Amino acid sequence: MTMRVAEEGGVVYHPGPPSWHGTQQESDDLLRIAASNCTCQEGAWPGATGVCDIHRMLREDQRALDGLVFARRIAERLSREEQLGQTVA
Ligand SMILES: [Zn+2]
Repeated sequence: MTMRVAEEGGVVYHPGPPSWHGTQQESDDLLRIAASNCTCQEGAWPGATGVCDIHRMLREDQRALDGLVFARRIAERLSREEQLGQTVA
């Protein structure tokens, strides 16, 4: 799935393989976590049947991938601010 910014400022999603909009480190961490939680049936990859939910998400769900990047960055920011004793405005 690819995306573009619509003229009105909204994001429009188009069919196709998802694109990663995070950093290489974020990608490495996600793939490591996916591998450790994978329940794909043996021999299923790259076929559609027997693919576990997390690998299906990685292959098909642009919004979920974007949400993971967003959530990770917010969590890191909140953690940093908490450690500094600041409050979030
Ligand atoms: Zn899997």
